[in-house]
Amino acid sequence: MNRRARAGTTRNRPKRSLGQNFLVDANLQRKIAAAAMDGPGGSGEPVLEIGPGRGALTDRLARRDVRLYAVELDDALAAALTDRYADNPRVVVVHADVLRVDLASLTGDWAATRVVGNVPYNIAVPIVFRLLTPPCPKEVVLTVQAEVADRMLAVPGSKTYGALSVGVALAARATRLFNVPRTAFRPVPRVDSALVRLTPRSGSGPAPDEASRDAVRALVRAAFSWRRKQMGTILTRHPDLRFDDDEARRALKSRSLPTRVRPEQLSPEDFAALAEALRFRPPPAS
Ligand code: SAM
Repeated sequence: MNRRARAGTTRNRPKRSLGQNFLVDANLQRKIAAAAMDGPGGSGEPVLEIGPGRGALTDRLARRDVRLYAVELDDALAAALTDRYADNPRVVVVHADVLRVDLASLTGDWAATRVVGNVPYNIAVPIVFRLLTPPCPKEVVLTVQAEVADRMLAVPGSKTYGALSVGVALAARATRLFNVPRTAFRPVPRVDSALVRLTPRSGSGPAPDEASRDAVRALVRAAFSWRRKQMGTILTRHPDLRFDDDEARRALKSRSLPTRVRPEQLSPEDFAALAEALRFRPPPAS
C-alpha cells in the first residue's frame, strides 16, 4: 500500500474534544484556500495552517509555491500527515498544540507568514488572541463559529459588542469573507461557521507595549463583566479598578464621555484612550 492510501485509511473516529469537524465540501475547500492566499505574496512564502486534520485545506495549499507548516495536535492525524507529505520538502507537519508552540520562530519569518485554519470551536478565541498579540503574522484567515465571527466584528451599540470585539478592533482590521454552512462539515456540527480575515495592525506602525495592552485588556474585561452598569460606577467600584471619583471623571471627560455612559457605547479607541488617561496598570500576577 502506498503512503497516500495508508494515510487515507487512518480514519479514527472524530474526537469531539479536539473539535474535529472535517471540511468535506470541495468548493468551500477551494474557496477558503484561495482566500487565505489572496493578495501579493512572494515565491516560497511561509504559510502556517492550524489544525490540518485530514488535509482538506493542506492538500490545496501544498500545491502552491509556499513553505507550509501544518500544526496538528492529534497523534494519529499528525502521523498520517507526516507520512503523506514525507516526499514534499515544502510541507512541514508539526505535531504540537498551537496554543503552546512558539509560533513566532516556527516559520522562520513570522511577520511574512499567512495563517489559515478551520480552527476547533472550543479554542477559537484563545487562538485569535494569541495571533493578535505581537509579534503578529502578516495575515490570518480563519473559519470560526458564526457567533464568534459576529462578536469579533460587532460595532459599538450592538448586542454582540464586547471584549472580543474591542480586542480584535484594536489589534487588526477584520472582515467577514463568507459564511460556511454546517452541512459543509462531517460530522455536521450544531452551528454554522464564517470565514474571517484579520490583518494585524502591528505591520502598519509601532505596536503598543505589553503594559499598555494589558491595561486595555483589564479595563475592557472589567467593563464588560459589568456591562449593564455605568462607566462612572465601573471605574470607581469594580474590584479590579477602583479609581477615585476625580480620576474617573477626568478620564471620561478627556473623551467627552459622561459618567453614566455604558460600556457598549464606548468605541475601541475610547477604551484605549481611557486606559492611557487613567495610567492604569493591572496589579502584578500573584
Ligand atoms: N482543517 C481540517 C478541515 O478543515 O477539515 C480540520 C478542521 S477541525 C475543525 C480542527 C482540527 O484542529 C482537528 O484536526 C483537530 O485535531 C485540530 N486541533 C484541535 N486542537 C488543536 C490544538 N490545540 N493545536 C493544534 N491542532 C488542534
